[in-house]
Amino acid sequence: MRRFLIAGNWKMNCGPADAAELLEGLKNAKAEVAEEVDVLVCPPFVSLSMSVNYLHDTDIQVGAQNLHFEDNGAFTGEVSATMLTEAGCAFVIIGHSERREYFGETDSTVNKKAKKALENDLVPVICVGESLDQRKQDIHYQLVENQTKAAFEGISSSEALDAVIAYEPIWAIGTGETATPEQAQEMHAHIRGVLAGLYDKETADGIRILYGGSMKPGNAEELLGQEDVDGGLIGGASLKAEDFAQIIYAR
Ligand code: PEP
Repeated sequence: MRRFLIAGNWKMNCGPADAAELLEGLKNAKAEVAEEVDVLVCPPFVSLSMSVNYLHDTDIQVGAQNLHFEDNGAFTGEVSATMLTEAGCAFVIIGHSERREYFGETDSTVNKKAKKALENDLVPVICVGESLDQRKQDIHYQLVENQTKAAFEGISSSEALDAVIAYEPIWAIGTGETATPEQAQEMHAHIRGVLAGLYDKETADGIRILYGGSMKPGNAEELLGQEDVDGGLIGGASLKAEDFAQIIYAR
């Protein structure tokens, strides 16, 4: 039985002071007492430690938005998996489309990062998803299949069970446009089929697949009601404590 995961991707928002305010809002909105849902916030690096401290008496978990696949060394500006675990992170977002588009992430770096996260007991939230152009060309299923296969290359089935996938159609990220529940379900079922091919049905059935792309209180219930949608990766709406809490309690 897959447990729901509602994850907030704060992107480049909320330094420590704003983070404290948002987390206080989440506590007031009772986000931390959701029993049937795992709740995750992913602040920027500089707000990770304070978020971990702030949330230490809650079940809300903290994740980073990126990591480097090397352990340490001359990689100015980068942060390693061990640094994230030391800071108290349990999750890390990998291969977000913004990182693929603006920071040169490739399927190969996504795979290296996913492996490094798993080696260090960090749950990788591996993002896949197509652009509008790719959907119009009708190559979206193949593209997401390729991204999924590449991300899991060399990862065993027991490790894969610890990973999370986020299907995020790029055309729906931050645009206010959302995939229909049917579009989300079709792609999630496709991804689960790809995982079953890579591993087996039991493994595929155990891996959580989140939907991301303008999820908000008004559409969360329907999206989260789809059989293969196991939660959400939420950008904009995760910056408003009330909205994020409403999504947590949408089902
Ligand atoms: C995201 O960036 O992961 C995301 C889903 O953003 P938004 O909810 O704002 O579309």
